[in-house]
Amino acid sequence: MAGRRIEIRGTVQGVGFRPWVYRVAKRMAVVGRVRNAPAGVTIEAFASDDVLDRFIEQLRVPTPSSARVLDLHSARIPDETLTGFVIESSDTVGDKTLSIPPDLATCGDCRAEILDPNDRRYQYAFTNCTTCGPRFTIATGIPYDRPATTMSQFQMCPECQQEYGDVEDRRFHAQPNACPKCGPKLSLAAVDGSALPATNPLDGAVQLLKCGAVVAVKGLGGFHLACDAANATAVRRLRERKHRDEKPFGVMVADLHAARTVAEVTPAEEALLASPERPIVLVRAREETRLVPEVSPDTPLLGVFLPYTPLHHLLLAKVGRPLVMTSANVSDEPICRGNEEALRRLDGIADAILFHDRDIAMRCDDSVARVIAGVPTIMRRSRGFVPRPFQLARAVSRPVLACGAHLKNTFCIAFGDTAYFGPHIGDLETVAALDFFEEAVERMQTILSIRPEVIAHDLHPGYLSTRYAHTRNDVVRVGVQHHHAHVASAMAEHGLEGPVLGVAFDGTGFGEDGTSWGGEFLLCFAGRFERLASFRPVRLAGGDLAMREVWRITYALLYDAFDGKPSIDALPLFDGVPPESLRVVSQMIERDLNAPRARGVGRYFDGFGALALNRPVSTYEGQIAIAWDHIANDAVRDAYPFALDRSVAPMEVDLRPAVRAACNDVMANVSPGDVSGRFHNTVVAVTVEVVGALLAEHGDVPVVLTGGVFQNARLVAGIEEKLANEIKLLRHRQVPPGDGGIALGQALIADAFLGDKG
Ligand SMILES: [Zn+2]
Ligand SMILES: [Zn+2]
Ligand SMILES: [Zn+2]
Repeated sequence: MAGRRIEIRGTVQGVGFRPWVYRVAKRMAVVGRVRNAPAGVTIEAFASDDVLDRFIEQLRVPTPSSARVLDLHSARIPDETLTGFVIESSDTVGDKTLSIPPDLATCGDCRAEILDPNDRRYQYAFTNCTTCGPRFTIATGIPYDRPATTMSQFQMCPECQQEYGDVEDRRFHAQPNACPKCGPKLSLAAVDGSALPATNPLDGAVQLLKCGAVVAVKGLGGFHLACDAANATAVRRLRERKHRDEKPFGVMVADLHAARTVAEVTPAEEALLASPERPIVLVRAREETRLVPEVSPDTPLLGVFLPYTPLHHLLLAKVGRPLVMTSANVSDEPICRGNEEALRRLDGIADAILFHDRDIAMRCDDSVARVIAGVPTIMRRSRGFVPRPFQLARAVSRPVLACGAHLKNTFCIAFGDTAYFGPHIGDLETVAALDFFEEAVERMQTILSIRPEVIAHDLHPGYLSTRYAHTRNDVVRVGVQHHHAHVASAMAEHGLEGPVLGVAFDGTGFGEDGTSWGGEFLLCFAGRFERLASFRPVRLAGGDLAMREVWRITYALLYDAFDGKPSIDALPLFDGVPPESLRVVSQMIERDLNAPRARGVGRYFDGFGALALNRPVSTYEGQIAIAWDHIANDAVRDAYPFALDRSVAPMEVDLRPAVRAACNDVMANVSPGDVSGRFHNTVVAVTVEVVGALLAEHGDVPVVLTGGVFQNARLVAGIEEKLANEIKLLRHRQVPPGDGGIALGQALIADAFLGDKG
């Protein structure tokens, strides 16, 4: 006999890891013990050396689908005389560490039970086990035990208790364990709160959905609004009530087979769809799709996801067709969470609400992922991922809270060698969003048992997140530039300390000179950066109004490119613009009044796209870019001319020649697809040329692509085709390339900055 102590770090608590270790040990006749430890799980195992070797091999690849082994360390210990293998109670010594896993999608075993008429959980919407079910969204404290969850109000019946206490059972220590006798229950109500007559709430909701009603459905991290995705009237009604003019809706389908009937799904996309995190995956809709165009107007991309709770499985099976499932909120407010709140906020939006009586402790929106030029990329990291730890290459010296970006906000808490993203908050523009932000920060601090000593925030003085940072007087505050944070997030993801050449393209971000940046080439180190190149700025006449009335950007580009004399009469884009508005805009630019300069590459997408598509208005950020990405003609290989102004520092990309050429194309009736193809090729060519020039000057450092613009697969593929063989070119996977990913970078920059200062 030999003895080993095996220490495992990773997502190994609350996911059925210890019972699984117990069963493996039993099978292999290994004796000893397993327990939760502050940093993961500790096993002391005794058997012959070769059995122990095989045992450890098995531990590296755990069967519980949500378990992740980050690292495994084993050391010899003296032999002990034992007769069996036991699960010991949790280790309470040492630092507390996060023991709450993310919410886990319903496993195959539980799904089979709810569909089996002979099972005691037949059609039970709250079925779960140690490998699946709610976790983060029901946790109210630590350690993660039933009393510290919103399940504490439900007393387990003897049968459930028996499962909970039996180490051989799939539900051993499954904290949310429940059954129809003892667990949460569904109810169906009208928005005035009155119960709706139905034999059972689920069937009642199904009937309503089949008739084209909008039904709010309480889920894991909040309420969804659901309707029949094949019913044009229902979808249109939902769109109107939600004030969501043209943004695509998420669509839930029963399974992968159903996903294939509505979209062209590649194997990589199928893997994402079926992953235990169950994100919404952006896929290409089938032309002959059974869904109505109102689901995702003017883009062939469809946000598809699979059921991740028993309630979803039952709904989808009973309705028998795809359902629109979109966060229950108006416009960009936080997702609805409480029952009372739902009644108040969903009045006039939903026709009925399918409630349940298990409280949601923490809001958590659906995550969004996409395969971008072959690489599965998380675009919104929330339900299913939060609060899974993110491993840092270098530990931070003090705990840091990073407040994140203004739009698509997520915050991040880093301490030691791990970082934790909070849930998706959304746009930090309303009091409701700020409340959610503060509540979520508080909650994460509690479950991590951490008090940050440093707060990192954006440089923009007016952002609510910046103001929040200033209300915390107990900490050191560090302002971090937006694009520097983007690059640092990408560096963290790849374990790079710098120097790195970061290409950060997005819509907007407050620059160190007080202007809006967004076409940045930055040489980045851990705590500082040098700005090497940027784009020639565009005037935003009317400020933020120009993001919506994108014709203003086109006008500004033309004004600049034609030396103040744009010939707009020949351009159909301006036909629909009132002459008075045109006059005002032209004066703003001429006199430099309320026409701030912006360097965001996203603004160039808006301006060129509006011109070629004759679309004067964009109803949401990125709409124009999405619309004309998909019409681009792949056969077009040439690009528009551009210039590089090396006489200024930072070097400036000048797209005025491209504006003039695109203008000629439009006047010559060249198809929008060809103009789009040439524009995309131009941005690729600019990036390749500037990167080449900067690397020649600064040596062969790795290059990272980051920022919301790099959600554009055409751009990424184009740049990779030209550069990937010659240089080390990296991009995001686990950390969103858009603003939802910058909090991690903020945290690391703040830490390095303070470290550098001694
Ligand atoms: Zn299960
Ligand atoms: Zn029960
Ligand atoms: Zn950004």
